Amino acid sequence: MQHITISEVGPRDGLQSVNTTLSTEGKLAWIEAEYRAGVREIEVGSFVSPKLLPQMADTDAVVRGAQHLSGLVIAVLVPNTRGCEAALSAGAHKISIPFSLSETHSVKNVRRNHAQMLDEIRSCLKLIETIPEPDRPAFEVGLSTAFGCTLEGAVPESFVVEMAERVLDLGVAEVGLSDTTGMGNPAQLERLVTGIWHRCGESKLTGVHLHNTRGQGLANALRAVELGITTLDSSLGGLGGCPFAPGASGNIVTEDLVFLLESMGYPTGIDLEALLVVRKQVAALLPEEEWFGFTASAGLPKHFSTAKLQQAS
Ligand code: ZN
Repeated sequence: MQHITISEVGPRDGLQSVNTTLSTEGKLAWIEAEYRAGVREIEVGSFVSPKLLPQMADTDAVVRGAQHLSGLVIAVLVPNTRGCEAALSAGAHKISIPFSLSETHSVKNVRRNHAQMLDEIRSCLKLIETIPEPDRPAFEVGLSTAFGCTLEGAVPESFVVEMAERVLDLGVAEVGLSDTTGMGNPAQLERLVTGIWHRCGESKLTGVHLHNTRGQGLANALRAVELGITTLDSSLGGLGGCPFAPGASGNIVTEDLVFLLESMGYPTGIDLEALLVVRKQVAALLPEEEWFGFTASAGLPKHFSTAKLQQAS
């Protein structure tokens, strides 16, 4: 079965949505503990103005502090060229820039309309091209609010595909599909993924970013891997929650996603038992925050067999 890369986004998406500001030391302890449990891609922060998101003010130190973890893909989010510059100087391995398909959301979130965002993406690309090829980080444009927007409502699917093509035509290697608002359903996910694949090629979209606002996160994740998506973003303990939907986790819960994939036979490289220990360690660093997920409360079933064990038997 296809190996699935789980990209842990808790230190970015989770921490930016909670009140607690975790120390640099705490973030690095979290990152290193997940790395030891087998996670090989972690979005460690974002290079945004510390005035807007003080929780992310130490992203440079976090990126530098994680460099010794060999084989770990250190991912960061940047809203603009200035952030991209900071990401390059810190030595991030993967840089994502969100491109919100709802123009109202884009203006509110990063104060740029679509034309301005396309310019920003162009200038990030130019900047990255100044780096010698072997050291060049991966650059991805995340198509956010692709499944709908709290401000604009429905985002037409044909528009999502059209904008994916426009972004890729600029020379971006890959786009990601983000259900920023947790409005998506599996049928919609299938139409969007296959729509972009047919227009732009399968190698141009390999990852999705899902939220669990309406409890559809794992259903969407399952449809994505069955289609052939190979990277899924998730957050330890679903950290972040949703201010508009009490009881709902933020991103899909990493522990539950690993359980789903491994028990079905999709190898993730993650030791779930170890990950459940990491959850306790990180929860102790963030005692004020709510932790989500079913696997942690129910525990692993006695007969639980990982993808690796299933292959061996
Ligand atoms: Zn998100």
